Amino acid sequence: MHTILSRPLLLALAAAAAATVFAEPASVKGPGGRLAFFVDVKDGAPVWKASYDGVDVVDWSALGLATDTADFTRGVTAGPVRHGVFTDDYRVPTIKKSHVTVEMNTLQTAFVDAAGRRLGFEARVGRHDLAFRYTFAKADGAQRVRREATAFAFAPSTTMFATPQSKPMIGFAQTKPSYEETYVFDAPVATRSGYGEGWTFPLLAHAAGAAHGRDLWALVSETGTDGNYCGCRLADYADGALRIAFPMAGEARGRGDVEPVCAAGSSTPWRTLTVGDSLAPIVETTVAWDVVRPAYAPPARPYAFGKGSWSWIVWDDASMNPADQRAFVDLAAAMKWDHILVDAFWDRFGEPALKDFFAYAKAKGVAVYLWYNSNGDWNDAPQTPKDRFNTPESTEREMAWLEANGVRGVKVDFWGGDKQFVMKRYCALFESANRHGIEVFVHGCTLPRGWERMFPNFVGAEALLASENLKFSQGAMDSHSQWASLHPFCRNAVAGAEFGPVFLNRFLRKDNTSGSRRVTTENFELATSVIYQNPVQNFGLCPNNLHEGFDRELAFLRAVPTTWDETRFVAGYPGRYAVLARRHGTRWYVAGVAREGVTLQLDLGFCGAGTRPVSLTRDDGFVWVF
Ligand code: CA
Repeated sequence: MHTILSRPLLLALAAAAAATVFAEPASVKGPGGRLAFFVDVKDGAPVWKASYDGVDVVDWSALGLATDTADFTRGVTAGPVRHGVFTDDYRVPTIKKSHVTVEMNTLQTAFVDAAGRRLGFEARVGRHDLAFRYTFAKADGAQRVRREATAFAFAPSTTMFATPQSKPMIGFAQTKPSYEETYVFDAPVATRSGYGEGWTFPLLAHAAGAAHGRDLWALVSETGTDGNYCGCRLADYADGALRIAFPMAGEARGRGDVEPVCAAGSSTPWRTLTVGDSLAPIVETTVAWDVVRPAYAPPARPYAFGKGSWSWIVWDDASMNPADQRAFVDLAAAMKWDHILVDAFWDRFGEPALKDFFAYAKAKGVAVYLWYNSNGDWNDAPQTPKDRFNTPESTEREMAWLEANGVRGVKVDFWGGDKQFVMKRYCALFESANRHGIEVFVHGCTLPRGWERMFPNFVGAEALLASENLKFSQGAMDSHSQWASLHPFCRNAVAGAEFGPVFLNRFLRKDNTSGSRRVTTENFELATSVIYQNPVQNFGLCPNNLHEGFDRELAFLRAVPTTWDETRFVAGYPGRYAVLARRHGTRWYVAGVAREGVTLQLDLGFCGAGTRPVSLTRDDGFVWVF
């Protein structure tokens, strides 16, 4: 159901309404009545707030946009208010829950400037989630958005778990920003970000203690971003709020506009807030997908999702040769996994050797994913193949070649930030791949914003400090249990995370005696196959692990699924420990990871397992199957 306000409808509503200014704040509560959204116009400025059980979790905060046509951030009046209901029922196999039923109460209005120009506004409120967006009037034509005022006014006592935005054109081969920065844990919301460029989505806010009388959790994000807008972030806390900010001018070597240009009658992405008095609504939220629509249909042959081997993560660039790739096809076959991910430089094999390799993998029943450089003049990454997805024509040619060679999917790395033109490139690549039945996952990339539902062949993204960092530095390895204890409550709550987990080597090098030393237990490693949700998992096992007495671990990794019918929060605190339960069919996988020693009584009544104790030490974990 689409609920964009059309101008004739608005005029009809305006004629029917006695007053066009709110007498008092307009509001809408979600089913169950705990989460409430309020909208008002104060001194000509549109504002919103949200409460949970009557406690303000976000205080009065700015709304509105300033475009090249009109300024809807001040000097506006409120249009008539219309209440309704939004329901949906959908299936997406690639997210945390395969079948979702949505019920949200809605509020629609408009902000009207002195000249009578209107900016449509809609809020949808569920039990724990709210989403809101703006819709441009058809009559006003395309508009360039100079500034978005939308803010989230968290009380200064609020703390946050968040990732800073990097400066542009820094890092490996000038490839940033790529959502690969470290994390702050329970930091005061007014903390300055490391680069002074604010924070990337999602951001988990924790309003604790006396100020609210209870703990409240609130996850801030955005969803539905396609080529009609840019990817946004939150600027550093100022004037009592975190505010929406557009990409940095320097991204993509200064190429492309910072300000999005939006088509007449189109809508912005949704700004989302998930609220609860426990972390369950955060872990279990599906709001990123509830309010978006598929951009296209999948092809007739369904997409397949599963587990794979991946030589690059431990054997590195030196393994990008046909013999080593065959060894990892053999590993996948021995593990009964369905695919191999062949990373950068496979183009050096040459076409005849490549065809032989495809035939070898096919004979072993192992599908192939191939790595690509996203291309372009916005980075200096030397890895090849490059320039294959550079133009619509070359993309179409490459996708046809992939289809003809039976390649299942591509991993596309080193994207150029969050500007609107980059978002258009993501969408165009997904759409082209879909025409050829090719899956796409992305690295060195932005946060996916509802993309699993919008693009049925989209199968995950990096957009976090992934397992390559464990290889790059011992410090990252030493932090892994802290990160794994955070992601279910933040990054992985709103999108699949292609982390590349599970190592059985003691050292993350081919010789298994040098490089980063794994500090986590084998049980921790197994748990990460469940904790990190992504429909396509590329594991860090090596051929030697087949003969090192890991029979129990290998049996588990042969059986563990990568798609889930349901996900539940069991216990945890971000950055300290996390216990989740995921259901595949009738089987529950209960997995936990710990940064610190912890003893817990887990209520597993929902899967018929009663209450069970578990004790974990630092860097330890567990997985139980019921
Ligand atoms: Ca990366």
